[in-house]
Amino acid sequence: MTHFQPTERTQVKRLPKRGRYDEETVFQILDSAFVCHVGFCVDGQPFVIPTNYGRSGNTLYLHGSAASRMLKTLSAEVPVCVTVTHVDRLVLARSAFHHSVNYRSVVILGTARLVQDSHEKMEALRIFTEHVVKGRWEQIRWPNEQEMKATTVLALPLEEVSAKVRTGGPVDDEPDYALPVWAGVLPLETMPKTPEPDAARKADVPLPDYLKNYTR
Ligand SMILES: Cc1cc2nc3c(=O)[nH]c(=O)nc-3n(C[C@H](O)[C@H](O)[C@H](O)COP(=O)(O)OP(=O)(O)OC[C@H]3O[C@@H](n4cnc5c(N)ncnc54)[C@H](O)[C@@H]3O)c2cc1C
Repeated sequence: MTHFQPTERTQVKRLPKRGRYDEETVFQILDSAFVCHVGFCVDGQPFVIPTNYGRSGNTLYLHGSAASRMLKTLSAEVPVCVTVTHVDRLVLARSAFHHSVNYRSVVILGTARLVQDSHEKMEALRIFTEHVVKGRWEQIRWPNEQEMKATTVLALPLEEVSAKVRTGGPVDDEPDYALPVWAGVLPLETMPKTPEPDAARKADVPLPDYLKNYTR
């Protein structure tokens, strides 16, 4: 199994047994989400901006308007921190102190590269789209020259990466197990609901299979 090498900055310090560095865990967490939070500093002021992403191999792709401050800032190869989080369960203990959350999260540190080559840029946009809705790219109109110009694509290498995962139920202090308090876990899940066709449609198109069977 391939592992990311923990560094001084990515070594999980609190409850280090929850730290994971294997590619399988990191990629599974990244591939089952499509929203990340991107942290960067401008003039000493930190910003953390939610945005979408796609992954291919050891690269995370971000995209957006060429006018976006986030993309302009990151294009200058400033240090960036990207996080992705899943909340799987609420963990309800008998004491306030031992309440917790079962989560899977990834933190990526590095600097992003502006994707300038037009073929790589188009491929990155394909990866980005397919990451969110697999099967979509082949059916949609691809970006034209003007739209490509208006779009910035960044590639962030997955090199300095950590994952942290909590599983299991509550862990209470021994005397608290006798307390008359319900304890356990509440599983949580993001589920697709019934697709709603656009009211402005001019053609009736059957619902694609990739939406009928959408899962993360
Ligand atoms: C789920 C999700 C997915 C997104 N996907 C993309 C994407 O793929 N590409 C993309 O370019 N943008 C995406 N956005 C929008 C993104 O969060 C920014 O709003 C957008 O990039 C504009 O950035 P900017 O640099 O122009 O804003 P800035 O100039 O950085 O914003 C100025 C200020 O506006 C406020 N602000 C900006 N964005 C937000 C926000 N989302 N919520 C609350 N306050 C905000 C903050 O106070 C910020 O300091 C997404 C947002 C969400 C929630």
